[in-house]
Amino acid sequence: MKVVKFGGSSLASSEQLNKVFNIVMSDSERKIVVVSAPGKRFAEDIKVTDLLIALAEKALTSSNTDSELNAVLERYMNIAKDVDLSPNIIDTIREDLLNRLNADKTNVEQYIDLLKASGEDNNAKLVAAYFQNKGVEASYVDPKEAGLLVTNEPGNAQVLPDSYNRIYRLREKSGILIFPGFFGYNENGEVVTFSRSGSDITGSILANGIKADLYENFSDVDAVYSVNPNIIKNPNEIREITFREMRELAYGGFSVFHDEALYPAFLAGIPVNVKNTNNPTAPGTLIVKHRTNQYGPVIGISSEKGFCNIYVRKYLMNREIGFGSRLLKILEDYGLSYEHTPSGIDDLSVILRHSQMDQDLEQEIISRIQHELKADEVHVIPNIALIMVVGEGMRHNIGTMARASKALARSTINIEMINQGSSEVSMMFGVKEKDEKKAVQALYEEFFVGVMV
Ligand code: ASP
Repeated sequence: MKVVKFGGSSLASSEQLNKVFNIVMSDSERKIVVVSAPGKRFAEDIKVTDLLIALAEKALTSSNTDSELNAVLERYMNIAKDVDLSPNIIDTIREDLLNRLNADKTNVEQYIDLLKASGEDNNAKLVAAYFQNKGVEASYVDPKEAGLLVTNEPGNAQVLPDSYNRIYRLREKSGILIFPGFFGYNENGEVVTFSRSGSDITGSILANGIKADLYENFSDVDAVYSVNPNIIKNPNEIREITFREMRELAYGGFSVFHDEALYPAFLAGIPVNVKNTNNPTAPGTLIVKHRTNQYGPVIGISSEKGFCNIYVRKYLMNREIGFGSRLLKILEDYGLSYEHTPSGIDDLSVILRHSQMDQDLEQEIISRIQHELKADEVHVIPNIALIMVVGEGMRHNIGTMARASKALARSTINIEMINQGSSEVSMMFGVKEKDEKKAVQALYEEFFVGVMV
C-alpha cells in the first residue's frame, strides 16, 4: 500500500489533474492520495492558499469580500469546467467558503487557519469528484473523521501521536481515498494548519498511520539535487539519501520536501520517494533510513543567508558551571530560536536568524549578557551565511574538512566559523553573505565535479 502526495503545481490546472489521475491509476498500490490546494500555473501566478489568506484578511476588516472570494472560486471553476465536472462541485465549494467566512472571528489566527485550510479541503472534494466522473471508486476523506488530531498551534500544528492508530483504520476503506493535506483538528474540533507547504507533513503522517510500504511525494522537479540549482547549473541528482542527511540539508534550495515531514515516515521506517508529476518515469530521489550507495564523503551542500552570530567571550568560561544555559535562557526569554552554538575554551557563539531581532532587542540582549553573565566581550556579527556540507560518508573518510577548507581558501574565502557535530554527518561553515555563492561553488567543485552521484 502506498500513500501518494501531489503538490500545488501538480494540481494547478485541468491538464495537471489529468496527469495526477494517470499516475494514480498506473499503480494499484496507490491507495491514499493527499492533495495540496491548486498552486501556481506559471511563475507570476498566485497560489490558492495565498488567495485565501488575502480573503481572510479582507474579511477581518471589511464586509465586502466579493472580489477576493471570486478570485478563489475562479481557480476551481477553471479546473472543473475544463474537465467537464458538474457545476454542483463549485456550488459545494462556494457554500463551504461562505460558511467559513461567517465563522467566529474572535481568534484571528484560528479564523485565518479555517480559511487557509479550505484550499486543500475543497480541492480534495474536487479531485474525488473527478476520479468518480472517470468511473473510478474514489472518495473524499474528512481528516476529522479519520482522527487526524493536532496541537492547537495555528499555522504551526504538530500531530498528536494517538492519531496514528486511528488513521490505521483507513486501510479498511475500499477504493481510492482522496485526503486533503495541510491541516488537522485540535481537541475542540477546530481546524488548525501545519506550517506552509505542510501537505507533505499530512502525507508522511498518513504513511506512518496506515503503515504504508512507500510514501511517494510528487512535485515539479525530477529529484532532490546535491546543491541549489539556482547556484550551480544542472547539479547532480541524488538517487538515495538518508533521513538524517536530508534533515541536515534543510537550508535553502532543499525545500523540495518539507523537513518536518521527514519525522513521521522516519519513525515508521517508511521510505519516501520524491518524484516529478511532469516526468513520472524518472526514478526521483529515495529517502531511506540507511543507504546502500557509497557516493563518497559528501552527498549535498546547502546554504542560506540572513544569520547573525552573538559572540560572547569570558575568561575561564570553561570552568563556569551553567554559563551556557544562562546565556541560552536569555534568548529563550525573548522567544528566540538558535541554529548552532560553536564554542572555544573562553568563547561561545550563538548563531541565529537575524530577522528574529530588531535593533532595540539586540541592544537589550547584549546588555543583559554583559551585566548578568559578566562577559568580557559581547557583540553581534551580522550578515552571515551558513553553508552545510553533508554526508554520512564523512564518518569513514579522513580529510574531508581539510579538503573543504582548502577549497574555500583557494577561492580566497574567509571562514568566520566552523562547526562539526560529533555525529560527523555534517560540517557547517559560517561565511560573509557576500561570499555565499562563491563558497558553494568552490565546495561543489571540490566534492562533485567529475564524480557521478
Ligand atoms: N497549500 C499550502 C501552502 O501553500 C500547503 C501545501 O501546499 O503543502 O503552503
